[in-house]
Amino acid sequence: MKISHFLTLIYILQILIVSSQPLPHFFPNISSIPKSFLQNTTNSPWHTFANLSGCHTGQKLRGISKLKNYFHHFGYIDNNNDTSDEFDKSLEFAVKTYQKNFNLNETGELDQSTLDHILKPRCGVADIVNGTSTMNSGKVVVGNGNGNNVAHYSFFPGRPRWPASKRDLTYAFDPRNELTADVKTVFTNAFMRWSEWTPLTFTEVNDYFRADLKIGFYSGDHGDGENFDGVLGTLAHAFAPPRGLLHLDLDETWLINDITTSRSSSAMDLESVAVHEIGHLLGLGHSSVEDAIMYPTISSGLRKVELAQDDVEGIQELYGSNPDNNNGTTGPSLRERDTSGSHKKVSVLVQTLFLAFVLILFVL
Ligand SMILES: [Zn+2]
Ligand SMILES: [Zn+2]
Repeated sequence: MKISHFLTLIYILQILIVSSQPLPHFFPNISSIPKSFLQNTTNSPWHTFANLSGCHTGQKLRGISKLKNYFHHFGYIDNNNDTSDEFDKSLEFAVKTYQKNFNLNETGELDQSTLDHILKPRCGVADIVNGTSTMNSGKVVVGNGNGNNVAHYSFFPGRPRWPASKRDLTYAFDPRNELTADVKTVFTNAFMRWSEWTPLTFTEVNDYFRADLKIGFYSGDHGDGENFDGVLGTLAHAFAPPRGLLHLDLDETWLINDITTSRSSSAMDLESVAVHEIGHLLGLGHSSVEDAIMYPTISSGLRKVELAQDDVEGIQELYGSNPDNNNGTTGPSLRERDTSGSHKKVSVLVQTLFLAFVLILFVL
């Protein structure tokens, strides 16, 4: 076969692959989502766990094996071969460790508040990686014992981070997703949340294969062993440095510009999830601080995009502070955080309009 024929064949194959990829669904806000689209998209892949409410050691109930699978996926159970429906000691230990990580009463039972947490959509990255405890369960608690005196942020085993020669990182989007400028801007804003507090910079490039950080939306099995699970359940995952892969579940309903989100929808705020996953790309693990960006779960519709003190302390332990930011070493607890809506933006807009009005009156 001539080389030109070979290249043409490759080109045709690429077009076929690209055209067979479904595209992710983005909506500017909840009211713009067609009702028909939201039908059958509110059931989490974990919704059957609701039948296990109150379950405890010694009981045998259908569905417990799936729950064990859940705890195995997130690092709480080592053994993946246990397919029994028995609530045994290893599951009790897993539940207790989970409860400790999520600041719940350590009952070892599947009480309602524990179940409510388990059912929330979350990041696919494990809370305990390679058996190394992270979050609360891996911390030595000092002081009054309520966990307030320990740092809650965590790192991946071995504390991988981008080397000192890589402070200016590039990122690119998988071209098969055909993302619009509006969607790309969401990621630009998400990267800025981290560059504000660190010496790191992030620049978008077109060359997907040469970029340090590669972002893509995929469905189900997409080749890295970390399958997505349809609507809700796991939303996204990202790999520790220097792998640089950030993957989001193509089957989610993503909101890209909704600052008045409602928790009643199954739609997810894209920037909130992107900010969290970028934390993983830079080397942060999960945190037990519910307010932190690196907390593993997020409710549908919730918007949480500004770093908490805990996130800033964690990322600055890896990279130091932003030399151009006068507040670089001061955590954001002193500032108003945008975690839920538009109040701050509206008040700034009103102030600006008022000032403009006064200026016009003055000129006239
Ligand atoms: Zn995560
Ligand atoms: Zn993946």
